[in-house]
Amino acid sequence: MRSHPHAIPTSDASSCQQRRAEWRAIAPTQLLSGVIFQARARSFIPGSATEGNNCIVDSDARLTFQRSASGPEHNKQSTLYNTRTTRIADPSSSRQAQSHPASAMSPAPALPESLDLAHHLTKRIRAAQPSAMKAMGKTLMEKKLLSLAGGESKSGSDWMPHPSLFPMQHATFTMPSLSSLDGDVESWQTGEAPTELIHLKKTGPGTENDEEGILDLNQVLQYGLSNGFPQFVSQLTELNELVHGKTIADASVYVSCGNTDGVSKVFQLFVEPDVDTVLTEEYTFGSSLNSGRSRGAKFYPIKTDSSGMIPSDLEAVLSGWDEGARGRKPHLMYTIPCGQNPTGSVMPSERYDEIYAICQKHDVIIMEDDPYFALQFAPYEPDLEVRERNLAEARAKMPPVPSSAAQDDALGVAKVFNEYAGVRSYLSRDVDGRVVRIDTFSKVFGPGMRMGWVSCNSVFMERLMRIGETSTQVPSNLGQAVLASYLSDDHWGITGFIRWQWAVRLEYQAKRDFLLDCLAKYVPDELVTTTPCGGGMFQFLEVAIANHPRFARTPLPSETDAVAVPLDLTSEPRLGAETNPEVPGLGKKSAGGVEYTTNTGELMDELWKYCIEEGGVLLMPAKLFQVVKPGVDQTHRLNFFRATFAGDKDTIEKAMQAFGKAVQDWFNKG
Ligand code: PMP
Repeated sequence: MRSHPHAIPTSDASSCQQRRAEWRAIAPTQLLSGVIFQARARSFIPGSATEGNNCIVDSDARLTFQRSASGPEHNKQSTLYNTRTTRIADPSSSRQAQSHPASAMSPAPALPESLDLAHHLTKRIRAAQPSAMKAMGKTLMEKKLLSLAGGESKSGSDWMPHPSLFPMQHATFTMPSLSSLDGDVESWQTGEAPTELIHLKKTGPGTENDEEGILDLNQVLQYGLSNGFPQFVSQLTELNELVHGKTIADASVYVSCGNTDGVSKVFQLFVEPDVDTVLTEEYTFGSSLNSGRSRGAKFYPIKTDSSGMIPSDLEAVLSGWDEGARGRKPHLMYTIPCGQNPTGSVMPSERYDEIYAICQKHDVIIMEDDPYFALQFAPYEPDLEVRERNLAEARAKMPPVPSSAAQDDALGVAKVFNEYAGVRSYLSRDVDGRVVRIDTFSKVFGPGMRMGWVSCNSVFMERLMRIGETSTQVPSNLGQAVLASYLSDDHWGITGFIRWQWAVRLEYQAKRDFLLDCLAKYVPDELVTTTPCGGGMFQFLEVAIANHPRFARTPLPSETDAVAVPLDLTSEPRLGAETNPEVPGLGKKSAGGVEYTTNTGELMDELWKYCIEEGGVLLMPAKLFQVVKPGVDQTHRLNFFRATFAGDKDTIEKAMQAFGKAVQDWFNKG
């Protein structure tokens, strides 16, 4: 692991140094799941950091990733995949990679090791001990000891329940066949798609004639590794490399129970309760705010526009941070850069680059919550004929569906998937190991699976396992088994899953287009405007609230007169106060400057309620998502509604019609 090369500004040098010193003092030689970890953070990485993985920038400004089947220790257990070369167009990443000495060398340089970033971990997380029970299980298995607990277990812990007493013999799931993955989900939606079966079979008496699946139910229904099934981890690693490339030697994957779980665990990794402030977009996903707050985080907003977070504001906030007034300088950023919730924005490549560089400069960890990454859209095209033609051309670019997953053109499929509309993730630019990326199966498979994965450096991954051991224990093995079956070459393969996501993306794009068509048809643009979203499931609608006859802009009281307005948590429609305890009501007049507050919040609450009661339509008010700068009036930024196009077309059209009428009536009545 490399030491951190960037000068730490004096203001936060002490806290970083202190955290590093604490880390060295705490980490003892430990036995973690059978792997010896040394006291120095450098040796904390399981497995060899550089073996067999190379990242090459070629003359086309593309990244060529060569990976070996043997990655970090936890990924080594895979037997499913052999060495392959993944070649993915990524002009934006190449800039980063070229500037990195290790990756710019040729031929076949080793991937850079991640930096030593352990000082970002909280004191408690650094001290977390591995499960002694799991370590003993490993010893039991390796030394083939007799266990008095009896029974057999492939994962080696013989005090587990006996598999002959699991009351499930055979599980069958029906899925769309690979042959149906032609970029159009219609045949699946109408029930006409060809299907095939996934089998999960229990071995043992009475099961001899059953069809076999890729996983044995005895193993699936048993406790498992806290990082998930090795096969599944290996598949996710392969998927990551096809979609994001691989930029650090110790790139690791931790299986989570979806992004809510991933986000919560990552806050737990980095947020020192009641000390840390987390940077985030001006509007963000309320549940993540609640999750961070429950871990003792404060949030500080970075200005956003229709293209996402604004890099210059991030730089200004970090370089101007006053630790005396605001507490410790932020070292964690929570961001939804793609298909942002609620704004729907997809950041352009240059912003990713700029923000990544700012985070390097200020030593900030990037938590990339990216549930909508697969759902990136081409720009909105209002002309229906052109739209249809564009769609047909896009579909034609995908390599033809092969007869079996093993024969699929993985690189060809990944190239089309990555290049269509596509920005590349923070993970694909991460040469330091400072990105913790959080993915989920919720939006492209089914939220009820409660399955996702976190991608990060191996030190952070190992600490996530420690958190998992005492919370979720093991992500649902049944969910993992089903997904591992989909992703196996017996069924879709990893490439087939990319094909599925591509088809789902085009379907949501069509829904986005339809919602925008309806908006143009039913809602007057003097009252509501929007910038077509670049991905995800949400369209952010701006209400021209300043045109309302009762709109008021009032100078704020002077600093000495300013009183915090008490939050009324009971009376409607001050909805949002519950999720945003930082809504201050009124800001303060800055010294020497004239500042104003507005009644936007009250008017938007009124309109929101009117839409429900008179129009029968529900939208999400911006107040639910707004992160407020302490002491700064941001009421004038509450004039947005989040509308989703995830529903069916009939609902979208009726809802837009009702919304258009309600908005006009409400403005007209004054
Ligand atoms: N993060 C964001 C930005 C989301 O929009 C959502 C779902 N609404 C989640 C996380 C939660 O996803 P999951 O179902 O994987 O927990």
